[in-house]
Amino acid sequence: MSAEAADRLVLLGSKGGPALRPGGPWPSSSLLELGGRNIVVDCGLGVTRGLADAGISLKALDLIFITHLHSDHVLELGPLIHTAWTAGLATPVTVFGPPGTGRYWQRFCQAMEFDIEIRIVDEGRPDIRELVSIKEFGEGAILEEEGLTVTALRVDHPPVTECFALRFEHGGRSVVFSADTAFFPPLAGFANEADILVHEAMLEQGLERLVARTGNGARLREHLFASHSLAEDAGRIASDAGVRRLVLNHLIPADDPAIGEADWVTAVRKSWAGDLTIARYGLVVGLGSDNG
Ligand SMILES: [Zn+2]
Ligand SMILES: [Zn+2]
Repeated sequence: MSAEAADRLVLLGSKGGPALRPGGPWPSSSLLELGGRNIVVDCGLGVTRGLADAGISLKALDLIFITHLHSDHVLELGPLIHTAWTAGLATPVTVFGPPGTGRYWQRFCQAMEFDIEIRIVDEGRPDIRELVSIKEFGEGAILEEEGLTVTALRVDHPPVTECFALRFEHGGRSVVFSADTAFFPPLAGFANEADILVHEAMLEQGLERLVARTGNGARLREHLFASHSLAEDAGRIASDAGVRRLVLNHLIPADDPAIGEADWVTAVRKSWAGDLTIARYGLVVGLGSDNG
């Protein structure tokens, strides 16, 4: 099988926000296998387990991208790399993240100093701090390597200002991640004719119940509407961009028993008629020409 035939996206979680509830889904990290590279996009809680379940050897960890520093996107970055290291990682890992990512990594290594030092001496492991390079990025081109290009677009996720959509391209294939964002029309140009657009989404009727259940509901409602997109908005971006497939991810709410996949489909169909995937754990979306 050629590397390109194996190009695929694997969803390692599907919920928006960091809280976990019994029986509910986990935060939305993704694995993108493109042009023979293993690319991890965001490192929310559960990303390590998700990669193992997707059949990825942690020793093959290669490129990691963090869209922004909210905990549902970065909490397990250090633990993922550290676990890969204990699994035998001996090749360089590059982490691309917004400003502050380097400080996170440095302090993670400080927090784990006892374990890191003892494993270097006791087990003869390479120094994890020398295996990892952190590249902090802003808007624009952030990587061009072996036919893989990655570009970033600042999106609208107040009060976070350093939050970036990412576009990955290789061999004529392209995958775009919206990151967390309110409805942001420039994303349509950024995602123009992508094979896959992974866009965050909220469901309006579920939000009303979520707000009703919460103590400071009005404040929560304000934050969600200012900083995130409704499923219909995600559909509008996908239609304007002319993408081949829309994947709704980072779902809010994600653990309301009264809301199922059909509700998401109904909402997004108001503005998107093309191929559609609603995220769930472990779901694989192929990039081959035969499966859209
Ligand atoms: Zn988030
Ligand atoms: Zn966020």
